[in-house]
Amino acid sequence: MTPELENVKGQIGYCGIWCGSCIVGNGALREVTRRYEALVEGYDLESWGAGDFDYAAFARGLAAIQRLEVCRGCREGGGREGCEMRECAKARGAVDCTECDAGAECGHAEMLERMRSGARAVGFSIKSGPADQEKLIEAWMSELGSKWPCCVLFDGHR
Ligand code: SF4
Ligand code: SF4
Repeated sequence: MTPELENVKGQIGYCGIWCGSCIVGNGALREVTRRYEALVEGYDLESWGAGDFDYAAFARGLAAIQRLEVCRGCREGGGREGCEMRECAKARGAVDCTECDAGAECGHAEMLERMRSGARAVGFSIKSGPADQEKLIEAWMSELGSKWPCCVLFDGHR
């Protein structure tokens, strides 16, 4: 397991999103970009690829993505700065929003749904209700190895 994944593996964000499945936190974005850069260079795309393409700018973009700070995870100081759900759950003493009893009284329901549906659309694993976190993470971890793009963290070619 990569150190990045090791760091976020045990973190389920206050909104229910599993940080272990986030490609910014688990290192998959960096790894995919690194490999893509190696392919573009290895195939020498610049010499025979599209002529109207600015390869230097493209290479700078790929390098910039690889320099992005790896997120530390929702419960370790990463995630959205000033996140309403995190602050609210902490103040209420809730494990997370999925185990909060506010129901219709939740003042952040819209934001919460936006975050969760956006995360679902890009393949995050998301806690949907009260659950044994250890078992949930164990199940998600076993899925991650065959899930694009996180599978790049497990194929032994890093
Ligand atoms: S920072 Fe907020 S939106 Fe991000 S994972 Fe944590 S609770 Fe969810
Ligand atoms: S009130 Fe809403 S935002 Fe706050 S902890 Fe409960 S579900 Fe989360």
